[in-house]
Amino acid sequence: MILVTGGAGYIGSHTCLELLEAGHEVLVLDNLSNASPEGLRRVERLTGKKVELVEGDLRDGAALERLFGSRRIEAVLHFAGLKSVGESVEQPLRYYDNNVAGTVKLLEAMGRHGVKRLVFSSSATVYGDPSRVPVTEDMPLSAANPYGRTKLIIEDMCREVFRADPSWRIALLRYFNPVGAHASGEIGEDPQGVPNNLMPFALQVAVGRRPVLNVFGGDWPTADGTGVRDYIHVVDLAKGHVAALAKLDALGGCVPLNLGTGRGVSVLELVAGLSRAVGRPVPHQVVARRAGDVASVFADPTRAAQLLGWRAELGLDAMCADSWRWQSQNPNGYAR
Ligand code: NAD
Ligand code: UDP
Repeated sequence: MILVTGGAGYIGSHTCLELLEAGHEVLVLDNLSNASPEGLRRVERLTGKKVELVEGDLRDGAALERLFGSRRIEAVLHFAGLKSVGESVEQPLRYYDNNVAGTVKLLEAMGRHGVKRLVFSSSATVYGDPSRVPVTEDMPLSAANPYGRTKLIIEDMCREVFRADPSWRIALLRYFNPVGAHASGEIGEDPQGVPNNLMPFALQVAVGRRPVLNVFGGDWPTADGTGVRDYIHVVDLAKGHVAALAKLDALGGCVPLNLGTGRGVSVLELVAGLSRAVGRPVPHQVVARRAGDVASVFADPTRAAQLLGWRAELGLDAMCADSWRWQSQNPNGYAR
């Protein structure tokens, strides 16, 4: 079976669904600090298959010991972590403890039990402010905030674990900007509090929970002056994990891979796409730039295509239509 840490969360729950559809058995470890168990119940309903959810913390060595001691785990998909940039600036130690110390515990338990196959949720944030786009995996890495630094440290740790013991097989999946939801509208992103990211904020404006979307900067050196990112449909991303798992042994090492579409989309293009999906304009206004933002980041996804045989298939309209289906069917997320 596959152990999915953080499997109750946004990307994890979509990946559990794709793993089940691909015939894997799935065990989730999640402390539910940023998720509801309802998402996985819906995954079970959609697939007609069971997902075992163990409510527990990555940093609890005894809980990990029980988990690895009692099951035959073939590989680990490691999503569990805190992910808010702003919060990480205010509470850096909480991020180092949860993300870095938690991953140390996980890797120790994996090593002890001879489970040396790992797929890790890294991020395009490890490229900092890239000197050119599209971004390739060999470009320099840097961290602009504590969240990004936890990703960089964990990547470094993985490289060193592999160097010390070359029998490990590790894929470092660098996600660009995940958006969208399962086509059923039954599972999706359910952020707590005020969303930081563009799509969840725009969706809450579209559904009437907030009055207007602030577009951070109209004077970036891009075609329409707004920031450009590589939005990737979460179902494509989930399928990328299934592909990485299938090719993990063939990758033969500790390999970073960009998971993006290769297409840059501006804030205004995304707002226009969402407005089409909703059927009315999403109110927005251009305001000052947000501190720490960069103009344009999008992936060169060639390596993932070559090594995993995977590429993103869903475009902006599907991302917006599926996001909207989830948001309009579940205006308050899982707490309807
Ligand atoms: P999410 O918050 O929805 O999912 C993370 C899950 O991990 C949650 O269910 C949470 O309860 C759980 N968790 C957190 N700390 C834990 C701990 N110590 N022990 C057990 N469970 C714990 O976030 P997501 O968007 O699904 O992101 C998943 C992963 O992908 C994260 O590592 C994130 O940093 C990374 N990532 C996300 C994005 C994005 O934009 N969503 C982009 C790049 C990378
Ligand atoms: N953005 C925006 N308004 C928001 C949130 C984000 O204009 O309320 C812009 C942001 O400046 C960036 C893009 O949308 O150009 C994506 O931001 P997000 O926070 O979603 O992702 P990241 O900055 O991590 O790539």
